[in-house]
Amino acid sequence: MAQRSIETSGPAETESLGGELAGGLREGDLVLVRGELGSGKTTLVRGAARALGVTDPVTSPTFSIGHRYRGRDLAVSHLDLYRLAGLEREEPALLADYLGPGRIAFVEWPEDAAADLDGARLRVTLSHRGGDRRRIEVDELEADDREESRR
Ligand code: ADP
Ligand code: MG
Repeated sequence: MAQRSIETSGPAETESLGGELAGGLREGDLVLVRGELGSGKTTLVRGAARALGVTDPVTSPTFSIGHRYRGRDLAVSHLDLYRLAGLEREEPALLADYLGPGRIAFVEWPEDAAADLDGARLRVTLSHRGGDRRRIEVDELEADDREESRR
């Protein structure tokens, strides 16, 4: 499993890392984005979505579990499963609208989600480092690791 760890010192740097990661993604890819509240998950997804050609504002999903955006060549999904904790058995149908062929999906708070999130390509973990600093770990998951990706 390829792994790297980066420190950013402001939201623009985190967005630009998101953009860089997006460059290595392709249709059907799933990216898990973990980290505490305010660690920069949505900020990173915003940068990735921009790089994929999304021009609409990328905001945190609040009234639904996710947003679907139109990118340059494909659709971009952005889910936030924070409030779904413990509802594993009810998720598959909900998630199906956002995952799969023809799109790239980013999922905040994937920890409690069902097996539908197996097969992720990247796992990004953000943490606070004081002030505007954030540590960002990027794990590139091989096929064999992917079943473990939610842990
Ligand atoms: P999350 O989705 O993890 O709850 P958000 O991306 O919504 O986090 O919010 C992160 C907040 O922290 C934003 O207000 C952002 O401007 C601020 N921030 C400060 N420094 C950074 C940084 N290095 N990376 C990302 N966000 C940062
Ligand atoms: Mg968020």
